[in-house]
Amino acid sequence: MTEEELLHAETFRDRVTTVTESGKRNWIYALKPSGRFYNYRNIVSYLYLIVFFVLPFIKVNDNPLFLVNIIDSKFILFGKIFWPQDFFIFAVGMIAFIVFIVLFTVIYGRLFCGWVCPQTVFLEFVFRRLEWLIEGTPGRQKALRDGPWTFEKVWKMVLKHTLFLVFSFLIAHAFLAYILGIDEVVKIIGEPFSQHIGLLVGLIVFTLLFYSVFAFVREIICTTVCPYGRLQGVMFDKDTMQISYDYKRGEERGKLKKTETRTLGDCIDCHKCVMVCPTGIDIRDGVQLDCVGCTACIDACDEVMDKVGFPKGLIRYASENQIANGTAFRFTTKMKAYTALLFILLVVMSVMIVTRKTVDTYISRVKGQLYQEVDGGKLSNLFEAKILNKTNKEIPVELKVEGMSGEIKLVGGQQFLLKKEAINDYNFFVEIPKSEIRERSSNITIGVYSEGQKIQSVKTKFLGPFK
Ligand code: SF4
Ligand code: SF4
Repeated sequence: MTEEELLHAETFRDRVTTVTESGKRNWIYALKPSGRFYNYRNIVSYLYLIVFFVLPFIKVNDNPLFLVNIIDSKFILFGKIFWPQDFFIFAVGMIAFIVFIVLFTVIYGRLFCGWVCPQTVFLEFVFRRLEWLIEGTPGRQKALRDGPWTFEKVWKMVLKHTLFLVFSFLIAHAFLAYILGIDEVVKIIGEPFSQHIGLLVGLIVFTLLFYSVFAFVREIICTTVCPYGRLQGVMFDKDTMQISYDYKRGEERGKLKKTETRTLGDCIDCHKCVMVCPTGIDIRDGVQLDCVGCTACIDACDEVMDKVGFPKGLIRYASENQIANGTAFRFTTKMKAYTALLFILLVVMSVMIVTRKTVDTYISRVKGQLYQEVDGGKLSNLFEAKILNKTNKEIPVELKVEGMSGEIKLVGGQQFLLKKEAINDYNFFVEIPKSEIRERSSNITIGVYSEGQKIQSVKTKFLGPFK
C-alpha cells in the first residue's frame, strides 16, 4: 500500500462531511439538481406545500380535517374529534405507526426522507431555491459568503434572510393552525397582540426555530439530530432499496480520455454526484447514514452518462444484493409480505377511526342507595350516567331499558340533551315491575338512542329484595 492509500484508508469516512478537519462547520454549497427525479420531486413538493398550507382551511362537519391541540388534549383526524378517552386508538395507532415506519424503512430505505419529509421539502424546494435565485450558483454563493461586505453582499443577504424569516413566519402560522384551528388563528390575528402575549411569544419562538433550522442548521438535522435518520443503520439490510452507486460497473473509476479505448469502469470521476449532494457526501464511498435519499446524485450521474454515451443508472435505486449480483430491482417475497402487512395495519387503523363511537356512555348505580318500592308494583333504583358527546353539536338522546318493561325517569327536570364536546352528567331512576326482578342483583341493559337509532348498549346491575 502506498503512503497515500494508507492515509486514505485511515481517514476514510472518519468524520461527517459537515465538519472540517479542524472541527469547524463545513458549509455545503450544493449544486442545483436537474433531471427526471428532480422533476418528479418538484411535482411532489408543490402538491405537498399546497396540501400543507390548505389543509387547515378544510372542514368536515364544521370540524377541521386535522387538529392536534396538545394544550386542550383535543385531537381531530379526518374531521372526527378524539378525546383522552380514545387513548387506546392512539396507543394502537402509535404501535401501528412504529411498525409501519420500521417495515417501510426495511423495504424502501429513506424514501420518506428524500420525498416527503417536511425538512427536505422545505429546505430543498423553498429555502435553498430562494438561495439559488438570489445568490446564484454554489460558486457565487461561496464567493459572496467569503468576500467582503460590498453593497451586493448586503442587499442579497438582507433580501435572502428577510424572505427566510417571512417563510418561517408563514410555516409557524400554519403549524399554529394545526394546533389551534384556523378560526382561532384568524381570530387571534384580528385581535390586539396584548390579549395573546403567550401565543405571540410561541409564534416568535417557532418562527426563529424554523428560520435557524432552514437558514443555518440545515442538513445537520438529517445527519445528526433526526432520530429516524439515526435508526436507519439498524433497519437496513442487504435487500433494502436505497440510492446506490454500482461499484461493479463504475470501478475502477478514472477520467475519460477520448483518445484512448476505455479499459476502466464507467465512473469518469467527474464529482458531479458529490457537487449536487445536499449533505456533501460521496455516494461512491458506499451506503451512508448521511444520505437522505434525495436522488440528486442519480440525476447528476444520469446526465453525465448521457453525455459520455454510457448507459444511465450508474447511481440508482437498488439494494446491496442487486448491486453485488448485478440483477435488476425485484419486488421480493419479503417486500410483498411487508407491504401487505403495512396495508393491513392501515386498514385496521382506518376501521378503528371510522367505527369509533361519537357518544360514549358510562352508567352505574348510585353507591349506597338501596331499591325503593314505588306505585304500580315496581322497584326503583337510582343511577348516574356520564355521557360523553365527542361531536361539536348538541345531541338529543333517549335511554330505554332493554328486554324488560322498565321505565327511565330523569331526576330534577333534566333533559337528555348532550352538550357538545362535553361530559354530560345525569341522575335517573330505573323502575322495573317487581315480577321481573327475581334476584338480589339482576343484570339489566340500557339502550342509548339518538333520533330513533340505537347507538350504544350499556350493561349494569339492578338491586332488588332478597328472595
Ligand atoms: S456523477 Fe457518475 S460518473 Fe461522475 S463521479 Fe459521480 S458516479 Fe462517477
Ligand atoms: S448521496 Fe445522493 S441521494 Fe444521498 S443525499 Fe447525497 S445526493 Fe442525495
